[in-house]
Amino acid sequence: MDKHTDFNRLENSELNNYYMRLEERYENIKNEKMKLDMSRGKPCPEQLDLSMDMLDILGSDDLLKAEDGSDCRNYGGIDGIPEAKELFSKILEVDASEIVIGGNSSLTMMHDTIARAMLHGVPGGSGPWGKRPAVKFLCPSPGYDRHFAICELLNIEMIIVDMQENGPDMDRIEKLAGEDEAIKGIWCVPKYSNPDGITYSDGTVGRLAAMQTKAADFRIFWDDAYTVHHLNEPDRLKNILAACKKAGNPDRVYMFSSTSKITFPGSGVAVMAASVDNLDAMRKQLSVQSIGPDKINQLRHVRFLKDMDQLNSHMKRHAAIIKPKFDKVLETLESELGGKKIADWKKPNGGYFISLNTLDGCAEDVVRMAAEAGVTLTKAGATFPYGKDPRNRNIRIAPTFPTLKELETAIEILCLCIQLVSIKAILG
Ligand code: PLP
Repeated sequence: MDKHTDFNRLENSELNNYYMRLEERYENIKNEKMKLDMSRGKPCPEQLDLSMDMLDILGSDDLLKAEDGSDCRNYGGIDGIPEAKELFSKILEVDASEIVIGGNSSLTMMHDTIARAMLHGVPGGSGPWGKRPAVKFLCPSPGYDRHFAICELLNIEMIIVDMQENGPDMDRIEKLAGEDEAIKGIWCVPKYSNPDGITYSDGTVGRLAAMQTKAADFRIFWDDAYTVHHLNEPDRLKNILAACKKAGNPDRVYMFSSTSKITFPGSGVAVMAASVDNLDAMRKQLSVQSIGPDKINQLRHVRFLKDMDQLNSHMKRHAAIIKPKFDKVLETLESELGGKKIADWKKPNGGYFISLNTLDGCAEDVVRMAAEAGVTLTKAGATFPYGKDPRNRNIRIAPTFPTLKELETAIEILCLCIQLVSIKAILG
């Protein structure tokens, strides 16, 4: 049998024979009692090493004064020091007046922004979202599980919208958002999306910015987490805030990002960008929540990352470490599964994931079998609202953390499991 034959064209007897050979290999691997974790998109230690110099950048004899003269050792500066706003304004391509710097996590900023909207409402709205009989969000899927977890926690009903080649299905989004006043928002990871690695086209960005929405206070939660995380020639993403302004909807979007996967996840700097009106409303609430963020960490980051040239060189060093890992996954998938018509996968230009689809109905069994052979993958279904993938087919591969050797073994095991489960499904 040719290694790349379409499984659907094989005789049952051929498939059965092949299944038995694969099963023997699988049982042998199980006996090796391996432990490989590919469940979360974390940088590997070599990537973290790239930012170690940042820890020496501020000394005890340093003045620790921000550009505006404020003492970073003390309280104050609710929305960030000017030089941090300046740097992030370049990253997100907005004006520095449209930036609020946060703490160590953009996810926290997203959670808090929605929680505040539920409690107090947003500019242009008619009161707290949480006082309404129902609040719904559009959830392009597969998507980021932690976005969906925020909605679940706050009792926001999630509506799945399919991801397509150029971003989410805009026809459906326009229809739903145009008809239902309860739909208050949408989650978007617009560049190198988690997990598909898709960058929204200009057309998609333009339509999101300009579409009619039944809710006057509809908001786009634009999580630009991977905006500088290229693996190849950078994808270009149209500026959503500029597009919203141009379309006469300047308050429609909240943009988020962070340095989590630029420097140290958990010890990075998070940021939000939005219209000045949105940010003015938010600053009032923020100043009740906190007397000021960690300005010392902001200063450290700005002095280390400096400007876009420096930042881009730093990101190239990240890419030099992780691109071979992405390549290894893609090569292994192609050599083990290519032509068999039992799975397809994306080839991202950046970000942290490779998204793979099995035959319908197979993903849960594949993830379970891989776990039994020692390979932990992100839970099947996690990339969909309520943890339920309607076609039970999406698997998120996170190649960055394991070593190349571990990755090779893990993907071979994954491919073995996909073949075993697929043959069972084909034979019925
Ligand atoms: N947004 C996306 C799309 C992510 O994939 C992640 C982490 O995996 C985050 C946000 C988390 O960001 P932060 O560390 O700034 O909270």
